[in-house]
This record gives sequence, structure tokens and C-alpha cells, in this order.
Amino acid sequence: MVGFFRLKSMGKFDRRSEEARAWRGWYGLARWKAIRKHQLAIEPLCRYCRLQGKIEVAEVCDHVERHNGDPDKFWNGPFQSLCKPHHDATKQAEELRGFSTAVGEDGWPIDPSHPANR
Ligand SMILES: [Zn+2]
Repeated sequence: MVGFFRLKSMGKFDRRSEEARAWRGWYGLARWKAIRKHQLAIEPLCRYCRLQGKIEVAEVCDHVERHNGDPDKFWNGPFQSLCKPHHDATKQAEELRGFSTAVGEDGWPIDPSHPANR
């Protein structure tokens, strides 16, 4: 039953801005659900965990690049599969800093936007 409740709690709304409201609704569309299902089928494990040498089942279909409400980026990706903790922690940090601080097995940041990779 844990999975069921987790799914239900995903319907939280964030009212930060008018702009945010519009694209947040896209996550409820059948089109997005099909994309998410496909992404988790082709990449069932969390990409960040894998890069750190761990095996974790992914739950989130994440946009590799921030879409900022751009319909083309939102619907066409590219996408990556992440576990919930990685999605929440890493994406929050990314939104604050503009890049992810997640590191791979070699200790090097995996985000191409990280200053170390520019
Ligand atoms: Zn993970």
C-alpha cells in the first residue's frame, strides 16, 4: 500500500507563480503519464544512484534540462529516471544553484552544467 499513498501525495500543488501553475497541470495529462511510463520502462533504475555505484528503482521521470515551462522541452525531453530522494534533493539544489552537485563514482560532478564541467 505504500506505493499507492506515495502516488496520491504526488498531486501536491506549488503556487509559486502563475507560470508554474500552467505547466504543473501538464503532469496530470495522459500524455505525460505515457511518457513517464515509457521512460521508467526503458530506464528502470535511478540514473544518479547508478552513477554512484548503487542500484535503486526509479520512480520519477525527470527532465535532464530544466524546461522552465517551455512546451518543447517539457514534452520532448531528454528525460532521465531518478529515485524520489535524488529527484527531490538534487532538483531542489539545482534550482537554487542552477546546476546539480551530484557526483559519480569518480567523485566528479555528473551535471554538464556544473562549473567543473564547463
Ligand atoms: Zn537515486
